[in-house]
Amino acid sequence: MSLLFRSLAAIAIIVAAAAALALYVSAAAAVWWLGIVFVAYAVVQTLYMVRLHHWSSLPRNRPLPAGIGPWRPIISRLARFVRQETDTRNELGSELERIHAAVDRLPDGLVVLDRYDHVLWANDAAEDLHGIFGTRRPIHHFVRQPEFARFLQANESGSTVRVQLPNQPGRTHELRLHRTQGDQKLLITRDVTNQAKLDAMRSDFVANVSHEIRTPITVIAGFAETLLTLDLDDAARREYLGSILKQSQTMQRLVDDLLMLSSLESGADELQEEQVDLHRLLESLLDEARALSHGRHELSLELDGPRRLLAAPGEIESAVRNLLTNAIRYTPDGGKISIRWRVQDSDGRIAVRDTGIGIPAEHIPRITERFYRVDRGRSRASGGTGLGLAIVKRIMHRHQGRLEFESVPSRGSTFTLCLPVSRLVPDPAPAVQANLPARAGGAEASQAAGSGAQDSGAPPLSAGLT
Ligand code: ADP
Repeated sequence: MSLLFRSLAAIAIIVAAAAALALYVSAAAAVWWLGIVFVAYAVVQTLYMVRLHHWSSLPRNRPLPAGIGPWRPIISRLARFVRQETDTRNELGSELERIHAAVDRLPDGLVVLDRYDHVLWANDAAEDLHGIFGTRRPIHHFVRQPEFARFLQANESGSTVRVQLPNQPGRTHELRLHRTQGDQKLLITRDVTNQAKLDAMRSDFVANVSHEIRTPITVIAGFAETLLTLDLDDAARREYLGSILKQSQTMQRLVDDLLMLSSLESGADELQEEQVDLHRLLESLLDEARALSHGRHELSLELDGPRRLLAAPGEIESAVRNLLTNAIRYTPDGGKISIRWRVQDSDGRIAVRDTGIGIPAEHIPRITERFYRVDRGRSRASGGTGLGLAIVKRIMHRHQGRLEFESVPSRGSTFTLCLPVSRLVPDPAPAVQANLPARAGGAEASQAAGSGAQDSGAPPLSAGLT
């Protein structure tokens, strides 16, 4: 029954009792009855109002007073609301805790600023990065860079500034400002060191490529203009056309190298591995190098390692060819160039040694950088693009190997491709040693197979070719 009906029924019973008293007892008894009921009602109401008032001034978790009569449903409903509110508050509290824990674990610094740029809140990362402690302090007490002050003054939502923070030496951070509701701002600090390096590399790269291309284009344009404007004899025309051809070949090589480097670096192409006959590959590269040298150098090849290698044949060929071309380029006439394939210190090593001009020590750490050359003019004149060693390094990386080099100025250089032993395919044991395991793993097994071949009278793996 609803509270209304129950209250109306109670009033009806009281009035009926008063009427019965007036009819059977006396009118005065009825008035007394009504008076007593009214006073009792007023006392109960007052009592409950006082208790509720007292309850409402206490903390929310105190129990409600128990109710009687019409107060019972009112108080139980109130108790339900209080329970629901407590549950919601607890849920929100734990949700907020989770969010705080997650935000504190973010590597990015987050600071909420009020309209006067005072810190309202900061996560752990922001406290570490900027040394923020406490709240209500101006942010410029913690971030003191002048460029940050200008950036804060500009107050453009979404704007960014890059700064070096004093307690983060060698790193670059980007600060980003967002306006939020009620004139508050969110300041995000992110470590963009890698991004900054990449940006610098990219712009260096574009500048280098433009520079590399501009030189042959200028030469080609100059010769073409001369051919158009001057009336030259046949010999001069031929010479000019030859120069144009040489410059366009330089551009072609540059574009080829750039494309190769970009495809190696994008990593999009999976390594197309297969068993490469390294002996045959090195022999054919030696022939190629001899043709390139035109008899100006003494070339030799030593094959002391297993015949087969698990690798991308095109890439290994390109890496060795680059090293051989450099050796020819940077070795004066009459010099010696040797290729040696062997297993040493758990690596398969293809070493290209020359007795050329060598590389001064201060240049050594940078020679595998793209476009880095010791002598730009000499490299260009001999058709170098400055990308060869960068390509070789990348190829080795794709094969889990590495490029090693050592050089002494005026005495020569040795560039070595080191491939992990897991890429070596042991040679099959010769017939006389058929009782040995056919495919023992590891470098030692490879070497054992190699020396076994020599012992058994098979053709030696080491052959000096000039
Ligand atoms: P490049 O096309 O100029 O040869 P690389 O990347 O192949 O470019 O080589 C980078 C630089 O390293 C060369 O310009 C040269 O100065 C130096 N270099 C490479 N190989 C040799 C070598 N065998 N002897 C001397 N210097 C070398």
